[in-house]
Amino acid sequence: MLGGYYAAMAPYRWSNRRRWQRCGDAPVMVTMYHRVADDLATPWTVSNATFERQIAWLQANVDLVSLAEAQRRIRQGNRRAAVAITFDDGYADNCDSALPLLIRHRIPCTYFVTSRNILDQRPFEHDLARGVRHAPNTPEQIRALAESGIDIGGHTRTHADLGKIADREALREEIAGGAAELESITSQSVRYFAFPFGQQVNLSQLAFDVARDAGMAAVCSAYGGFNFPGDDPFHLQRFAVDNDLVRLKNWCGVDPRKLRLHPRFDFSATEQPRELALAK
Ligand SMILES: [Zn+2]
Repeated sequence: MLGGYYAAMAPYRWSNRRRWQRCGDAPVMVTMYHRVADDLATPWTVSNATFERQIAWLQANVDLVSLAEAQRRIRQGNRRAAVAITFDDGYADNCDSALPLLIRHRIPCTYFVTSRNILDQRPFEHDLARGVRHAPNTPEQIRALAESGIDIGGHTRTHADLGKIADREALREEIAGGAAELESITSQSVRYFAFPFGQQVNLSQLAFDVARDAGMAAVCSAYGGFNFPGDDPFHLQRFAVDNDLVRLKNWCGVDPRKLRLHPRFDFSATEQPRELALAK
């Protein structure tokens, strides 16, 4: 279904893309992975073979950039579609093949880690709720990744839902405290933060303020959004990647249906292409 939609919309997308590139207004996208492994025990696991195909497709079709470069393009303009790769949580399996692949190809990556799961070697609550116990990374793995050029980012101490926390000190403990624990492992500074769960309901203005006060260069959400030049570079909107190459192509080709989530694209006032109605 999605493959047919992707193909049918290609001409429309390409005309959008050419226009954006001409104007320096091409999208800056941030992907969110969790776990790359060959047992697909959770919906947030991508197989090693799919991951390799996804990375090869990205290398051929977009600029693969760091979060710092993504922010620079959002501030200054962007002439070619760009994608930054991020991972959330900190799964040991990622060190088998996925992260070594990125390191080998010198592809920038920010790896957001929940510090207490690493330090206490405790499986993640969202896995335990499904009856699986995937091992978290060890502190030694996190240190080695940082030394190999992977950017280690903060993802709270306890994977708390920050949308439910109204107390500034408790937020500081999760955001700044988690970053400090990671810094003590890697001896490098943590500059980026990703909200656990990452939906609108899991974010708050207060948490944004606390992250800014803690010295973060940007925070990442995960409800499925694009960034364009002129947007707020402090809030990087991400989309989740699953075990499907076509879905990644559909995101990176900028599915016009998804653009309606972006405040700059109010499609309600204009007539949509006929394919849009058919694809719903
Ligand atoms: Zn998470």
